[in-house]
Amino acid sequence: MNNENKEPIFEFDLTLIADFFRALDRQGPGGDEQTIRALGFLPATGPGLRVADIGCGTGRQTEVLARHLDGTITAVDLLPGMIEELRARMKRTGLSEKVTALVGSMDELPFGDEELDLIWAEGSIYNIGFERGLTEWRRFLKPGGVIAVTECSWLAPSRLPETAYIRENFPDIGTPAAKVRILEKAGYVPLAHFVLPQHCWTQNYYAAVAARIPDFLEEQGHSPAAVRMATLMREEIEHYRAHGTDYGYVFYIGQKPEK
Ligand code: SAM
Repeated sequence: MNNENKEPIFEFDLTLIADFFRALDRQGPGGDEQTIRALGFLPATGPGLRVADIGCGTGRQTEVLARHLDGTITAVDLLPGMIEELRARMKRTGLSEKVTALVGSMDELPFGDEELDLIWAEGSIYNIGFERGLTEWRRFLKPGGVIAVTECSWLAPSRLPETAYIRENFPDIGTPAAKVRILEKAGYVPLAHFVLPQHCWTQNYYAAVAARIPDFLEEQGHSPAAVRMATLMREEIEHYRAHGTDYGYVFYIGQKPEK
């Protein structure tokens, strides 16, 4: 986590955040079909790929990557609780041999220059910032390597309403066209971008968040911090219900040019 991170959820103790989110199958909007669709834009991939999944959470997308790619994946997350759950998932699904899970921060990644064929980051690059993440992570990619990230973006031409929720949670929000320009400026050739459908937020994510809240409050003895966190989560869900046609996650896929 960046110390200067202004995201409201980070006002909470990291243990409390991990306690809430580690029980979920995914920690942000997304979908298996969308992960697979993004994989479809990769240029021909050989065997033995070296992949990093950054801000992996409990590894829903890591599992999809491991099933569909021939290679090894290093999954990195700041919160030890996420990494524990990810390891348990890989064991359960028989994928442990393909996935190494590490606690670490996305602003201090343990990779060497030109080591990776693919960098994946679903729902997480905003923690470091879209432009900074794309720029700083580029050196880890081999020439011809690919980056695929999801990032909150404006979907409606009016770009309204620009609410306090959006300003606080997604200060970098921009149109897909603006995000693609940033991708290019950071040194990638844009391969594709596409919008995640609304069910990636509602069915795949917020339904589980809403269902988790009562158990979480019970486990935390209705502490003031837990109640406040539950309130923020409910407000987030309500915000999406009211304005979810205006913003959403977009998958951006870019390639580092061959030398
Ligand atoms: N990729 C997962 C998914 O889509 O289900 C998780 C997405 S969740 C919205 C963002 C993840 O980024 C969390 O698991 C969080 O712990 C992690 N994270 C936040 N700041 C981080 C940092 N500085 N370095 C690494 N991971 C970080």
